[in-house]
Amino acid sequence: MSRVALVTGGSRGIGAAISIALKNAGHTVAANYAGNDEAAAKFTAETGIKTYKWNVADYDASKAGIAQVEADLGPVDIVIANAGITRDAPFHKMTPDQWKQVVDTNLTGVFNTVHPVWPGMRDRKFGRIVVISSINGQKGQFGQVNYAATKAGDLGIVKSLAQEGARFGITANAICPGYIATEMVMAVPEKVRESIIAQIPTGRLGEPEEIARCVAFLVADDAAFVNGSTISANGGQFFV
Ligand code: NDP
Repeated sequence: MSRVALVTGGSRGIGAAISIALKNAGHTVAANYAGNDEAAAKFTAETGIKTYKWNVADYDASKAGIAQVEADLGPVDIVIANAGITRDAPFHKMTPDQWKQVVDTNLTGVFNTVHPVWPGMRDRKFGRIVVISSINGQKGQFGQVNYAATKAGDLGIVKSLAQEGARFGITANAICPGYIATEMVMAVPEKVRESIIAQIPTGRLGEPEEIARCVAFLVADDAAFVNGSTISANGGQFFV
């Protein structure tokens, strides 16, 4: 069935691949982004997917942005909370601002994205929520106390929402990608990237489309019994 899907951070990287996969699955997609107007305009021109600018860290902006999406496209049945940032530093050098920015975007941003759509999903007795967490939320990572804390927290959100939403036909699941070939990872110096790849049994980085395939599976109407789960898509780098 064709539904309306919202993908936060849906104009670049993993989010862009998710937006395209959901469009190809027959859904009407709204791709949110933070401020990179040029990338968003290019994405819309190439894909025909509408983009919407708001900061997921801001509750009122999220609520207003989602209201605009629903006015334009109809009730949102599928939400992919994908927007995320890093502000890495070893803990002794991490500033309160680096901590706060990452918590506000990666953790509170998920609350801000799901909370406005939750009542409608309950009323309509259908909803699909997927949160893009990270391998580093599962295992921790040197220099990422802030990021790992938020990504582990996202798994707590998903497992709790799964229990609250189940009797309303809502599922909530998480995907923990390993290292994926997005701009973020490709910007890392080649030597560092080689050392990262050496830790991946598959011997390569993942592709954004490989995460999008997991999302497409989880949001299908007939995936109703998969609820509260975590898919680790990391080339065999880490097992829970
Ligand atoms: P990118 O940096 O390539 O893209 C980030 C997207 O999120 C952009 O569309 C950006 O908008 C948007 N965004 C960032 N902050 C906000 C905000 N405050 N409000 C709204 N939108 C925002 O990221 P990736 O594709 O690499 O990562 C996507 C998700 O996957 C993140 O949650 C990340 O933590 C997670 N992840 C990534 C991995 C990887 O290897 N790449 C590994 C594991 C997890 P704009 O274009 O306007 O800046």
